[in-house]
Amino acid sequence: MESVIDPSGVCPPPSLAIVVPCYNEEEVLSDSAEELLNVVAGLEADGRIHAASKIYFVDDGSRDATWPIMQHLAQENPRIVAVALSRNRGHQNALYAGLSQTSEDMVVSIDADLQDGPENIAAMIDAFSAGNEVVFGVRTERETDTWFKRMTAEGYYRVMQRLGVDLVFNHADFRLMSRRAVDTLLEYPETNLFLRGMVRELGFRSTSVSYARRRRLAGESKYPLRRMLSLAWRGVTAYSIAPLRAITVLGLLAGTVSLVLIAWVLGVKIFSGSAVPGWASIMVPVLFIGSVQLLCLGVIGEYLGKIYEEVKRRPRYHLREVVGHFQSVPDSSRNDRSIARRCLVRLPEDI
Ligand code: UDP
Ligand code: MG
Repeated sequence: MESVIDPSGVCPPPSLAIVVPCYNEEEVLSDSAEELLNVVAGLEADGRIHAASKIYFVDDGSRDATWPIMQHLAQENPRIVAVALSRNRGHQNALYAGLSQTSEDMVVSIDADLQDGPENIAAMIDAFSAGNEVVFGVRTERETDTWFKRMTAEGYYRVMQRLGVDLVFNHADFRLMSRRAVDTLLEYPETNLFLRGMVRELGFRSTSVSYARRRRLAGESKYPLRRMLSLAWRGVTAYSIAPLRAITVLGLLAGTVSLVLIAWVLGVKIFSGSAVPGWASIMVPVLFIGSVQLLCLGVIGEYLGKIYEEVKRRPRYHLREVVGHFQSVPDSSRNDRSIARRCLVRLPEDI
């Protein structure tokens, strides 16, 4: 396989950005920052990444002390950048906002609770160095998740596969992307973000790294059932027209049932002399067809709602504050970094 890093060792290694969306994460933030800083320091010591690597924390409109802690971390540590959204916009938008702040050669996205162990980033970088532009983190086992979460999540991936949506099984949002993959992703204009589907659609050379999911460091899941269902539904409506097709199937089924009912009504009328077609034989088809129509209208409405949101072209978020973005990198290492950029061997897709 072709290497993206100069095999002669003359060129410095690529720089890394780690993007961490955070919503009410005061309980884990300091520990997570410490662990991530250690991981980055280790990677730098190994020569896998450049000294000009950074960690971007994005505060997704938290109501607790997340932002003050984040600000403090950014002021104390030149490696840390703290970004605050003006209000809670949800995990996918916060992650997108973080990605758009980066300028490094590789970008890793990871949840603040570090359930997807950051020690796996080393293996991801090795996969990047081997020529992959997207490296998906795949959970091999989810013993630390509740039974309910495990069943619903895995069931969801199966349903999506049946609907023909191209997703990596058991991959959420822990992944590494090359600069080009991130820049390409940022060209997608849609408002309803479903990043794991969009990244799959980019189509650059990709691979996956497997790991066992850890327990949450502290605090509770910020993805309650309501948010999980909303993300799942967004995935379906953003990437599959199967529900629209289902309307046709339902229509056909309803038509068949109505035909049988009509035959029965006519049979009663013709063969049982005294029978007057009754209330039931009118009400059953009326109710049945009525309910099918309502259901169909509901599904069409879902899509119309999405179209409505997209055509408005509203900005996804507004940045309130950025701390520590332009400090830190001494001039000499900046030079190194531009050398690192120049030294990246071109990938086949570039040529
Ligand atoms: N998150 C966010 N905005 C939200 C909800 C969640 O930025 O509105 C972040 C959260 O802080 C965490 C990540 O999304 O970093 C995943 O959330 P969590 O770990 O609670 O989800 P789970 O692992 O339970 O699926
Ligand atoms: Mg989690």
